[in-house]
Amino acid sequence: MSALRVDLGVLARNIVRVRETVAPARLMLVVKDDAYGHGLEPVVRRAHHEGVRWFGAFDLATAVRVRAVTGGDARIFAWIAASRSEIDGAIAHDVDLGIGDRDLLEEVADAAGAADVAARVHLKIDSGLHRNGVRPEEWPSFAERAAELAKSGCLDVVGIWSHIAEASDEEDDAARAVFERAVAQARAAGLTPGLLHLSASAASFARPEFRYDMVRVGAFCFGIRPAGGPGERELQIRPVGRLEATVVDVTPDGVVIDVGALDGLPSSLGGRVSVVVNGDSRRLLSIGAGSVLEAWPDAAVGDRVTVYGDPDGPSATDFAETIGTIGEEIAVRVSPLVERIYSGVPARDH
Ligand SMILES: *Cc1c(COP(=O)(O)O)cnc(C)c1O
Repeated sequence: MSALRVDLGVLARNIVRVRETVAPARLMLVVKDDAYGHGLEPVVRRAHHEGVRWFGAFDLATAVRVRAVTGGDARIFAWIAASRSEIDGAIAHDVDLGIGDRDLLEEVADAAGAADVAARVHLKIDSGLHRNGVRPEEWPSFAERAAELAKSGCLDVVGIWSHIAEASDEEDDAARAVFERAVAQARAAGLTPGLLHLSASAASFARPEFRYDMVRVGAFCFGIRPAGGPGERELQIRPVGRLEATVVDVTPDGVVIDVGALDGLPSSLGGRVSVVVNGDSRRLLSIGAGSVLEAWPDAAVGDRVTVYGDPDGPSATDFAETIGTIGEEIAVRVSPLVERIYSGVPARDH
């Protein structure tokens, strides 16, 4: 039986580390992609227990699941809302919405008007990533329209935000200049956003001037270091997830384990990485339905293997670097069919 062992105590320590680093900026814990493959509800429950009061959900379905765990005393930010029914859902579940285009702004205002509430929104400037966000040339009129809608009582513009590449300091500096200009223009339009947020994991640690009021951090809270960047030790974070597998066959060609391409390992890792067995490193020869490892003496069906996340073995990011991707891509590939086993689950709050 393969399993992802998720140590929520490590999550809690990483959260403390992130908070201490970014203070006085606040932490928004990003939990998209089923909390980076670690399992949404247990992660949110523990983080909420640790006092985290901002969650970044990406989509509405995730936001609603977060709300079911936290109850009323947390803010939940979703930045992809497509349909009117999703917008109505966001308003009904008290979700803060990221707004990156004019049509969505109008739709949210309309939905809020119909519900007779002020929808909390964070306006998104496109600072260069072109994923979504209002282009700088359209921003002044967008901000003016938002101010009008705020005055009419259907929008509460609580934040301005953007997302940056975190690939080079020069690019990020240029993005920050665009962001600063957008904030100034929004204020000139009469908006008074109290929450400015721009950075994710890497910039929140490396670039203090990027922290503003809040940082949106996923990877570092899960102990996933950046590919090509500083190590876990330097960052003082540790992997929360550890992927384990069981030996299911011993053949002349190698030892077969029950985790492979179907459960989550990119087949391109075959022949390029090693895993940990009883403290020793064993080459991973190929990845198919299962994975084949180089044999070891006395290998037997039922032996346990740590694929990644062992403190003395490779991390998800180590795997990622050998195939030119990022640790998050490895983490989110672990199939829902792989059991999650949790330690550090908080006792129920009453
Ligand atoms: C995923 C994401 C984050 C978190 O990024 P990490 O590098 O995992 O910390 C922050 N903001 C947005 C908009 C995201 O999509």
